[in-house]
Amino acid sequence: MRIGIFGGTFDPVHNGHLEIAEKVEQWFSLDRVHFVPAARSPHKGRPPEAGAWDRFAMLVLATRPYGRFYVSTVELERGGVSYSIDTIREFRRQMGAEGDLYFIMGADAFRTLTGWKEYEELLRLTNLVVVSRPGHTLNAESLPEVFRSRVRIWEPDHERTSEHEPHIYLCSGIHNETSATAIRAALRRGETIAHLVPPDVATYIEKYQLYRNPITR
Ligand code: ATP
Repeated sequence: MRIGIFGGTFDPVHNGHLEIAEKVEQWFSLDRVHFVPAARSPHKGRPPEAGAWDRFAMLVLATRPYGRFYVSTVELERGGVSYSIDTIREFRRQMGAEGDLYFIMGADAFRTLTGWKEYEELLRLTNLVVVSRPGHTLNAESLPEVFRSRVRIWEPDHERTSEHEPHIYLCSGIHNETSATAIRAALRRGETIAHLVPPDVATYIEKYQLYRNPITR
């Protein structure tokens, strides 16, 4: 099994997330991609604006058309600050020794990786798929020298070889400007976001009146 793990706050999930998951699933012939909403991100100053149930529900709606996409509750059930290393260990435990993990993140998140809890161990347990994001450079300069030999510039015709050590794949094929911050700001201004999220997610946000109030915390 080749399993993708896509972590984030998904506040809300948007078309950029889906494009990433679709492309990475294809590029790496993944059997499944698990979207893993964080209870609370260690990298963001404040808690997510929408509650856990709403973010989970929107992810379920967004992923419903995709047979290989799943939503994992592992971080929401664990509660507190969500550390990716704990999630990756949990997936590894469930998978046993067989199978490969592909942990998916944007170039912005990758630049902060060396500040993540046990990031060296994280790089030992999973492949990393880093996708380009407008406004953020995609390279491995933020990584200590010792990991650089594991970096692969991913090309569409890349041949997968079975190697012992997991790799860090840098994939430049994503050019999507969407961000959850921009969506929340647009909603507060009363603008439409219909082109930025799947229709069911737009309907859900409207129905439950999410992201309407000025930020108070
Ligand atoms: P926010 O604006 O609230 O910070 P976000 O749009 O970055 O949210 P997250 O849920 O934080 O969404 O993102 C989860 C993961 O998806 C992160 O690794 C992030 O880098 C990546 N990501 C989100 N949007 C894009 C995008 N448009 N292009 C590339 N990567 C993205």
